[in-house]
Amino acid sequence: MDLWLTEFSSPDAKFSIRVEKQLYSHTSDFQQIDIFQTPEFGRVLVLDGIVMLTEKDEFIYHEMMVHVPMAVHPNVRTVLLIGAGDGGSLRELCRYPDIECIDMVEIDREVVNACRRFLPEVAASFNDPRLNLVIGDGISFVRTKQDEYDLIIVDSTDPFGPGEDLFTREFYANCYNALHSDGIMTNQHESPYYDSDAQIVRHIHARTTLYFPITKVYQAHIPTYPSGHWLFGFSSRKYDPVADLRAEEWLARGIETDYYNIDLHRGCFALPTYVQQLLSGGDV
Ligand code: SAM
Repeated sequence: MDLWLTEFSSPDAKFSIRVEKQLYSHTSDFQQIDIFQTPEFGRVLVLDGIVMLTEKDEFIYHEMMVHVPMAVHPNVRTVLLIGAGDGGSLRELCRYPDIECIDMVEIDREVVNACRRFLPEVAASFNDPRLNLVIGDGISFVRTKQDEYDLIIVDSTDPFGPGEDLFTREFYANCYNALHSDGIMTNQHESPYYDSDAQIVRHIHARTTLYFPITKVYQAHIPTYPSGHWLFGFSSRKYDPVADLRAEEWLARGIETDYYNIDLHRGCFALPTYVQQLLSGGDV
């Protein structure tokens, strides 16, 4: 039998991956969780029918979420990770010995359990002693925090289902308050290409700009996300991501990466004209 996993990029365009077999399927209290074995991309994690990661290209997303802010902030000690239940962002953070504490708030315990079982190279750092894993709602968690973190990473699902309120004004305001006065937030910022995703891009940028003095958007090529063109947000209380890049310090750490590098860091904030226009026209 010929099995294909298909995700609609828009009502009139879709992306398909050939499936060898289904390894896991479970309906949790929050979402449908599936893991497939595929010949092209290795194992693929799918939540509510949407590809979250594949073994073959997850390094791009997770390196860009983590190393971009880590190469800018001079002294990250405390981190809040919201969502991120697969463990990929956690794995990248754990490569920095100076980080002292990582609070990770994931709403769905079953995502963590499934990834630890079927995606062990992604979920590689759940035993790190610096991790404080909270199974709960990131929106409520961040409301209770004030001036606690150097870095917040919002590694969420798309703005539907449990992740919907991770894209609101209230949430971004609370993230701002939860950061120290020189803190940085990075968040997944969707794709600029297809119309419905592009509307979300506008809203995220307009909303973060309400609270953070510096809000920049950067990009990466991620083959299994809609259109392959993916954006990330860099919202900062003090540091500019390019002017304040600490290239020599980051290189001295000797962290080996497969996507991120210092030249790419400088270049990834240079956006195509249509994306610049999209970001300049947003309403909140
Ligand atoms: N890289 C991914 C992407 O954009 O395709 C994100 C992957 S990660 C698996 C997203 C996680 O966010 C999911 O495990 C989901 O359970 C979690 N999540 C969604 N809403 C949440 C909330 N309100 N609080 C905490 N975690 C949440």
